[in-house]
Amino acid sequence: MAIALKAADGGVVQVSPEILQAFKANFAGAVVTSEDVAFDETRTIWDGLIDRRPSLIVRCSGTADIVQAVRFARQHQFLMSVRGSGHNIAGLAVCDGGLMIDLSLMRGVWVDPVARTARAQAGCTLGNLDRETQLHGLAAVLGFVSTTGVADLTVGGGFGYLTRQYGWTCDNLVSMELVTADGALVRAAADENADLFWALRGSGHFGIVTSFEYRLFPVGPEILGGAMAWRAEDAKDVLDFYRQFTATAPRETTCVAVLRIAPPAPWLPKEIHGKPIIAIFVCHSGSIEAGEAAMAPLRKLGRAVADSVKRRPYTQMQSLLDATQPQGRRYDWKSHYLARIDAQAVDVLIAHAKQMCSPFSAIVLFHLQGALAELPAEHSPAGHRDAAYVLNITSAWESADDDAANLRWARDCFEAMQGFSTGGTDINFPTEEEGCQHTEATCGKPTLARLAALKQKYDPDHLFQATKSSAACAWVAPK
Ligand SMILES: Cc1cc2nc3c(=O)[nH]c(=O)nc-3n(C[C@H](O)[C@H](O)[C@H](O)COP(=O)(O)OP(=O)(O)OC[C@H]3O[C@@H](n4cnc5c(N)ncnc54)[C@H](O)[C@@H]3O)c2cc1C
Repeated sequence: MAIALKAADGGVVQVSPEILQAFKANFAGAVVTSEDVAFDETRTIWDGLIDRRPSLIVRCSGTADIVQAVRFARQHQFLMSVRGSGHNIAGLAVCDGGLMIDLSLMRGVWVDPVARTARAQAGCTLGNLDRETQLHGLAAVLGFVSTTGVADLTVGGGFGYLTRQYGWTCDNLVSMELVTADGALVRAAADENADLFWALRGSGHFGIVTSFEYRLFPVGPEILGGAMAWRAEDAKDVLDFYRQFTATAPRETTCVAVLRIAPPAPWLPKEIHGKPIIAIFVCHSGSIEAGEAAMAPLRKLGRAVADSVKRRPYTQMQSLLDATQPQGRRYDWKSHYLARIDAQAVDVLIAHAKQMCSPFSAIVLFHLQGALAELPAEHSPAGHRDAAYVLNITSAWESADDDAANLRWARDCFEAMQGFSTGGTDINFPTEEEGCQHTEATCGKPTLARLAALKQKYDPDHLFQATKSSAACAWVAPK
C-alpha cells in the first residue's frame, strides 16, 4: 500500500511500495512506518506534550544514509524534520505527516588528545561526548544535562559550566561536516565554506550536520562541584548573595540558582523533601585548591540545609541535574536573557516561585559573562554576548488535566520578568509559539540580511523548513 506523506507546500505525496522498496534497498539504517511496532517509541521525544506522527521515519546509521535521505526528501519535496536526540522544547525534531530523519543512532566520538579536538556524530548526547573526552582529561563546552543532544544545542549556541571560560559551544567548533539541501556532503570551517560555518553557529537552517569537530580543554577528570540548598524562607538572602558572588566569581566557577520544591534526592535531607527550597549548583573547573578558595564565601553563607559540594568526577557533575529532567513529562519552558539581577527582579522571581503549581517545575538562573563578551556580536548568529544570566522558567508536570495551570504559571512568570530582559529568548529554549529567535531586535539588520542571503544561496526551496522554526522567520524570504 502507498504511504501518504505531507509535502513541504502543504500538499500530499503518495509513496508507492516500489519507491519505498527502492529507497530501502540502499539504506543501511532502519525505515519505520506506523505499521511497525517500533513506531511509537521512535516518534516519541523528550517532551511528553509533543505527540506528532510522521508518515515515515528513516533512522540513519551513517553519513551516507543522511545524504540518501536528504536527496529522497528533495526529490519528492516532503515536509521534513531532523532529530538529533529529540530534546528541542518546541518538538521540532518530529513533524506531523512528513519525513523524520532520525540521527539518534549515530553516536560515534573520536578524540584526538594531541590536537585537543573531538569529532562527534550528530546523534550524540552530551554524555556520549563527555565520556570519551574525559578519558583524556579533556572536555568540550557543553550543557548542564547529560542526556541532551549535541546537535541542536551546538547549532543553537549552547552553554554550560565551561561557557564563562570559553564562550558558547558553537564558538568552540573547529569544523562541521554537513549535507546541504542539494544532497552534497561538504565541510564547513574557517578555511572552507566559511559562510556556512558562520551561519551554522547559531542558526540551523542550512543543512543537516553529520558530525561536529569540537575544540577541547583540560578539565578534571575530577573537579570541585555539587549543590547546596536552603529553605525557601532564605531565598532572598541566597539570591542577594548569588548576585554578589557571581559578580566577582572567577571564570572557572559557574553557579546555577534553582527555586523549586525539593525532590526526594539523596543529597537532600528527608525532612526537606516536598518543601520549597533554593539550591545553588556550582562547578569549579580549575584546580581543586582554587575551587575551595573560590567557593569559601558560598560555604560561609549560613543556614544551608544540604551541601554536596565536593571533589567529584566531571562527568558526575555533568549529570547531576539529569534526574530532574526525565523524558516523557509534559514540559513548557520560557526563557529570558538578563543583563543583571537586581533586588526587584529577585522579588518577582520569589513571588512566582511561591505560585508554582507542580513539584517538578523550577525557576533557574544560569550565570554567563566572562569569555562570551570577548567576541564581537557579528562573530556568529548566536549573539547575546552581553547577557549576564539566562533565566529559564521550566514548567514540568505529569497529567494533561494540569496543562492549563502549568502553562499559565510559566507564562505569567515570563511576562513578569519581561522588563528585566535584554530581549529575545535563548534560541535553544523557545516553545513552538515563540517561533524564530533571529529578529532585528535580537540580531540586528546586518546579521539578518546575511542569513537571508545565505538561505537563498544554500536552500532556496526551503527544504529545511521545520528547522529552528524557519517557516516563522521573517528573514527567510518566501519562495
Ligand atoms: C533537559 C534539557 C536540558 C538542556 N540543557 C541545555 C543546556 O544546558 N545548554 C543549552 O545550550 N541548551 C540546553 N537545552 C536546550 C537544548 O540545546 C535544545 O533542546 C536542543 O534542541 C537539543 O538538541 P537536540 O539535538 O536534542 O535537538 P532535536 O530535538 O533532536 O532537534 C531539534 C531541531 O534541531 C535541528 N537539528 C537537529 N539535528 C541537527 C543536525 N544534525 N543538523 C542541523 N540541525 C539539526 C533540527 O532543526 C531539529 O528540528 C536543554 C534541553 C533540555 C530538554
